[in-house]
Amino acid sequence: MMLPIVKFGDPVLHRKAAPVDQITADLQPLIDDMIETMHAAPGVGLAAPQVGVPLRVFVVDVSVGRRAEDLRVFINPSFVEREGMQLEEEGCLSLPGFTATVARPARVVLKGWDREGVERTVEGTGLLARALQHEMDHLEATLFVDRLRGIKRDQIVRRIHKLRKRGAW
Ligand SMILES: [Zn+2]
Repeated sequence: MMLPIVKFGDPVLHRKAAPVDQITADLQPLIDDMIETMHAAPGVGLAAPQVGVPLRVFVVDVSVGRRAEDLRVFINPSFVEREGMQLEEEGCLSLPGFTATVARPARVVLKGWDREGVERTVEGTGLLARALQHEMDHLEATLFVDRLRGIKRDQIVRRIHKLRKRGAW
């Protein structure tokens, strides 16, 4: 089932997500729905807060459904390593219509549970490293605009306020 994606300004995006205590049966349909919603958007990642669920869960698929091995589910993830630097254009399904160049580490190693509760360690470079960090940020209530310098961030936030006034956000 496709889930509605909440946008910048929704309180659930602006507070830290809570850890998952245990993998319960009701988590599985949420994960399936998040994967379906990410692929349909289309996007390379989706975090649970973006569908209104304040839990430390996200899905990532840099192939957007083309390669099954690229689909990954992370529950209670944490960074093991971060190194280097990359500068690329980045967007977010919760900020439709906006992109900006965001500095991120070039390589990361993350560990977390998969959907069966098995601990996995995943290394990412390039787009995967970027996607993993972007989704980790969502769990910490940080959106890509929060990583921009003042003026660029203010421009985007001002345009969102205008859209909201017109009922277009
Ligand atoms: Zn995002």
